[in-house]
Amino acid sequence: MKVIKIDKGKWESGLEALKKSYTLLGPKNLNHSFEFKELKANEAPDLTGLNTRMSAKGLVYPQSQAMFTYTLDQNDADHHIMKPLDKKPSKRAVIGMRPCDADAFLLVKRNFDTPEYKDPYWIEAYEATVLIGLACTDPCGTCFCTTAGSGPASEKGLDVILLDKKDYFIAKPITAKGEAFLSASSWTEEMNASQAEKDLQEAGSAAEKKITSFIHTENLRDKVSMEIYNAPFWEDVSFSCINCGTCTFVCPTCWCFDIQDETHKNKGVRMRNWDSCMFPLFTLHGSGHNPRGEKVQRVRQRFMHKLKYYVDKYENGIQCVGCGRCVRSCPVNIDIRRVCELMNHPENATCAAQ
Ligand code: SF4
Ligand code: SF4
Repeated sequence: MKVIKIDKGKWESGLEALKKSYTLLGPKNLNHSFEFKELKANEAPDLTGLNTRMSAKGLVYPQSQAMFTYTLDQNDADHHIMKPLDKKPSKRAVIGMRPCDADAFLLVKRNFDTPEYKDPYWIEAYEATVLIGLACTDPCGTCFCTTAGSGPASEKGLDVILLDKKDYFIAKPITAKGEAFLSASSWTEEMNASQAEKDLQEAGSAAEKKITSFIHTENLRDKVSMEIYNAPFWEDVSFSCINCGTCTFVCPTCWCFDIQDETHKNKGVRMRNWDSCMFPLFTLHGSGHNPRGEKVQRVRQRFMHKLKYYVDKYENGIQCVGCGRCVRSCPVNIDIRRVCELMNHPENATCAAQ
């Protein structure tokens, strides 16, 4: 596959050419945070931010999504018929996402696209989306991707990786989808593939050296779940949690949802909305019983799912790519790196986790 050199002077005209075939999305600086938004005519992604506040998860799996409409009206010809909404995801590309966010899609895919179960909403949106990553050269202080299976120049899950070389970008296609994306642009200058590889590797190694935040996961697989589950530190870990759910909403690898019907008279629409294991209502049964009615149970569940049940089920990796968003966003400073340390060595944990 041809590696393309994009002169910065031709960056914006190439984006405008691409907008004829793709809806383009990229980070925008909204003053208080960077967020992924659609890039309208003559808009380019703002690549000056360290990372977006919310991950790219919501572009494929919206926070609130209509699944289908229905009617219960006996006089309606469509009585009892569920009508899928016609809106199919358009062909689009996300430009400037960090490699950890792309890797997160591969983790989430294990839930939405399995040999047994296919989620058509997620799969259609994922297949319609081209993921254009930007290699990190300045990781945040809270990033720990290198010990969570990803890295500043990781290509996992990406269709194209970009490297900013001040006067130009290196654009290396990784998949056929990425190659087709670059072909639809007006950027045609080819560059030496081995030089591009060398530049990407050097940039990745230099950025890795700047990462000062790590997690240790080597014992998680061998520990018996109940040893971690019954460890003494969960009360301390969960003490300050206010059940806001922020950690799960900002997380690119959290996938839980709830389904609700919004009805008006005899008609309705079935909605799928993000939900959170940190909310007390998440596990409330119709009988009134709640198997995770206590805060400590919910906090334990979040970390057990990401760092133990997922590890046991899939046998490689954890359900976290080390983006650090939950660390930065938690209003009471609950830190997955600290909790992971306790879970990795529950035998040493005797005192407060904060
Ligand atoms: S658990 Fe935290 S650090 Fe890991 S992927 Fe989710 S938000 Fe990022
Ligand atoms: S962000 Fe912090 S306070 Fe809010 S639910 Fe998560 S752990 Fe609890």
